[in-house]
Amino acid sequence: MRFETKAIHAGRSIDSATSSVTMPIYPSTTFERAEDGSYPNEFEYSRDNNPNRRALEDSLTSLEDGYDSVTFASGMAAITSLIEALPAEQPRRMIMPQDMYNGIRSLLSKTDIGSNFDIEIVDMTDLHAVEKAVKNKPTGLVWMETPSNPLLQVTDIEAVTKIAQQAGAYTVVDNTFATPVLQRPLTFGVDFAIHSLTKYIGGHSDVMIGTAIARSDSPMLANLRAWQHSKGAVPSPFDCWLALRGVQTLAPRMKDHCANATAIADFLNEHPNVEVVHYPGLADHPGHHIAAQQMDSYGGMLSFQVKGGQREAMDVAAKVRLLIRATSLGGTHSLIEHRASLEGSETKTPANLLRVSIGLEHVDDLKEDLMQALEQ
Ligand SMILES: *Cc1c(COP(=O)(O)O)cnc(C)c1O
Repeated sequence: MRFETKAIHAGRSIDSATSSVTMPIYPSTTFERAEDGSYPNEFEYSRDNNPNRRALEDSLTSLEDGYDSVTFASGMAAITSLIEALPAEQPRRMIMPQDMYNGIRSLLSKTDIGSNFDIEIVDMTDLHAVEKAVKNKPTGLVWMETPSNPLLQVTDIEAVTKIAQQAGAYTVVDNTFATPVLQRPLTFGVDFAIHSLTKYIGGHSDVMIGTAIARSDSPMLANLRAWQHSKGAVPSPFDCWLALRGVQTLAPRMKDHCANATAIADFLNEHPNVEVVHYPGLADHPGHHIAAQQMDSYGGMLSFQVKGGQREAMDVAAKVRLLIRATSLGGTHSLIEHRASLEGSETKTPANLLRVSIGLEHVDDLKEDLMQALEQ
């Protein structure tokens, strides 16, 4: 089956009890045993497994061309569990990208994950830097995020994966910005793709949920499943149901997100009050050629730097009427955000940068709104 068809059918079937076409929500926390003590279905207790979670995991595994998917109560719960699932024999050392989701930065600086691991931050767009870091000391895990947040940097997934695997390290790609519609990291040999399903896959800014999808069976996958069961940061059946509902329209939504973002990136690129636009679809973006090889299109996220400093950028965000000033991304509505003021004093994000999640509004309405907001 092709992607669009899998998005609608994988993991789903007609409900055998009622012939319901959409999947029922199973809030039951527990499932009955047979007289001989066995379980007639695969379900025992909802923290271990639940029909809605099973359906979502099957669907995501299929979309990423993976082996299995393990789903959590948020993207960060998936990320934390995946790091903790690194097998004991692997070196406690991680290579992380310079430009990456701020929540991971907080995880490293505010919890003992940061102190339990030796962490080296590198420019993932520089293969020599990655090679040097991996050779510097035995490494357990190499973390990629592409396109990255908030600078939309592009990492060569296949090349970094080769470098990491030659050194015996596991590899992860945070595929939240691209979604499996545009980029399937496991097909390049990556061990795990992770998603904040809260974003494009949920797609409507109404559910928090996350997942890690494995390319193959491994000790790390077994650990991850054990973390899900035992630590218990599991999504509710309704959350799983909402995410699976989002999956059904993911492919056509991404097409529109990409078309709108391309047009807005072109518009901003020409605007006299814009210093620079970060969008991998632009021919002059430093990662454009790699993005063109590993992505089917360039996504709905972009950021741009307003001429001037923090005040000028905040002024633009203050003046928008249609775009919404809020964090997060991947919903139907466009969001604009001044990242540096959110990320705190140690951030490397430029003070004049605004990040935009381009929604599904008519592109001319978005353009007109940004045009009036950029007038000085
Ligand atoms: C939002 C986000 C996360 C974290 O996901 P939550 O669902 O908010 O916990 C991780 N990575 C990226 C790239 C994100 O955008």
